[in-house]
Amino acid sequence: MYCRNCGQPVDDKAIACPKCGVPPSMEKKFCSNCGTPTEPNQILCVKCGVSLAKRSAGLGGKNKIVAGVLGILLGWLGIHKFYLGYTKQGLIMLLVSILTSWTWIGPGLIGTIGLIEGIMYLVKSDEDFYATYVQGKKKWF
Ligand SMILES: [Zn+2]
Ligand SMILES: [Zn+2]
Repeated sequence: MYCRNCGQPVDDKAIACPKCGVPPSMEKKFCSNCGTPTEPNQILCVKCGVSLAKRSAGLGGKNKIVAGVLGILLGWLGIHKFYLGYTKQGLIMLLVSILTSWTWIGPGLIGTIGLIEGIMYLVKSDEDFYATYVQGKKKWF
């Protein structure tokens, strides 16, 4: 990728640009994919068409829309937890749903948690979502 602060090529895994010392995805002055200068409000690089929204590089590959929709539709299976990397919490939700599925009360309860969590993912800003669930590793809600 290219440093979004100075436009120099940097390693994808670099936490800071070796040239300017700024985290490569922090600023919005250059396209991370082709190094072309960009406007701070641009959401798409006009040269290469890549998304410049912060989540493309900054969210660790996690998309809050995907997580939200998974939570709403498949929350009773804990799929959104697996998606966010919370394997233990996902397994708990999955197991509770399966073990209580003969009553439909368990899956209903778990599904409600998933639904609420999915909605919370969707209403949060990208930055907030990243700080809370990807970086902050907040387990529930
Ligand atoms: Zn730089
Ligand atoms: Zn570009």
